[in-house]
Amino acid sequence: MNIILLGPPGAGKGTQARRLVEERGMIQLSTGDMLREARSSGTEMGNKVAAIMDAGELVTDEIVIGLIEERLQGDHAGGFIFDGFPRTLGQADALGALLDRHGAALDAVVEMRVDDDALVERITARSTCGMCGEVYNDITKPIPADGKCSNCGGTEFKRRADDNAESLRTRLMEYYKKTSPLIGYYYAKGDLRSINGLGEIDEVAGAVSDALA
Ligand code: ADP
Ligand code: ZN
Repeated sequence: MNIILLGPPGAGKGTQARRLVEERGMIQLSTGDMLREARSSGTEMGNKVAAIMDAGELVTDEIVIGLIEERLQGDHAGGFIFDGFPRTLGQADALGALLDRHGAALDAVVEMRVDDDALVERITARSTCGMCGEVYNDITKPIPADGKCSNCGGTEFKRRADDNAESLRTRLMEYYKKTSPLIGYYYAKGDLRSINGLGEIDEVAGAVSDALA
């Protein structure tokens, strides 16, 4: 089964994708993670996109489509979760063509709905474990008092350079202008399932499962 998790920054796509990887052995393809990896490895492409990402703008379709294309090679019996991709109509068309070429298809697009106030609250309070990627929130899920990750015991936590109020404003605008048209695009194809992304992680995970059943 191949699915897209669609939603604004902070909707919880990454969190739910991690669950699906654990529970169903699916493969998570997050273009945001790939781009962060590229920039920290100092490749030419990484350097090119760093400033764009920090400002909260979208990198070019060409770059992210290339990244996805590389990952679609080889065995993928567990199915793919596309997380943060596609983000434009051009990317959506390209994904359709790529899957076609691999004899694969899209099974569902799960739209995670969360209102803007909650997004801002989640993102500006967000940090992650440097070792395992567990997500913390200063208010709702603070780093344990002993300073150790509850999942892996790691002691280093990071905040993303683009998780500040100003970049976030741009990221939200980019979402509404360029990505939200995909809701109509996939609705027209009959692939769209919209769920409520507010609430406990387990509750949302249940809604995702229902949407995929
Ligand atoms: P979020 O969903 O929280 O905004 P991501 O980790 O998915 O974060 O993406 C971080 C940044 O990486 C985006 O703001 C954008 O600059 C870039 N990016 C990620 N995926 C794409 C994509 N599919 N197309 C263009 N830019 C992307
Ligand atoms: Zn950890």
